[in-house]
Amino acid sequence: MDTTWIETPSGRLNVGKILCLVRNYRAHAEEFGEEVPPEPTFFLKPPTSIVHDGEEVIVPDTTSDLQVEAELGVVIGATTKEVSVESSYDYVFGYCVVLDITARDLQRKAMKEGLPWTLSKGMDTFAPLSNATPKEEVADPHALEILLKVNGKPKQRARTAQMIQKVPAVVASISSHMTLMKGDVIATGTPAGVPKVRAGDELEAEIEQVGRITVRVEGAS
Ligand code: MG
Repeated sequence: MDTTWIETPSGRLNVGKILCLVRNYRAHAEEFGEEVPPEPTFFLKPPTSIVHDGEEVIVPDTTSDLQVEAELGVVIGATTKEVSVESSYDYVFGYCVVLDITARDLQRKAMKEGLPWTLSKGMDTFAPLSNATPKEEVADPHALEILLKVNGKPKQRARTAQMIQKVPAVVASISSHMTLMKGDVIATGTPAGVPKVRAGDELEAEIEQVGRITVRVEGAS
């Protein structure tokens, strides 16, 4: 099944890549005992990891520590390379809610062994995306509340003002290394409070002005 798209008010955009910032909220880095990197640092999830509102996140048999990180996503609206900080919003279509699903035990093992995070972050269903909201409807991407609930209980509640690297700097920095294309999504990092989740849980994330997404966690069958 092809899930490699994001819905916008004017139709679907194909998502070519999903770029995810690491440690862009100080409180999250601290709860994991990690340093904040001096410049935007990111990894990739493949578009095949996308699921949409109302769909399921599947817990693979290979993990016993699945965690969810709610993040503001930036949806790219036009191809760009080496864009300046000042011009970067010209290439932003809008925003979405991203759930960065993580097999934390596999990630920790990879980190310890100096191996890539790809598997722990990029398996099927590991990137639930809400619909995209055009930037014109979001007054300031750095003045939004992020709320993640698991089975109705709040787990993450923070403000995007706490992001260390702001949206224009992130877009400019990534585009200095690789071409950004229409439909690409940048997940801007998660705040503190990242919860472990299990089969049967309902994950509900909302970012004010941007949107919301609800997905159910299911065991592998
Ligand atoms: Mg993340």
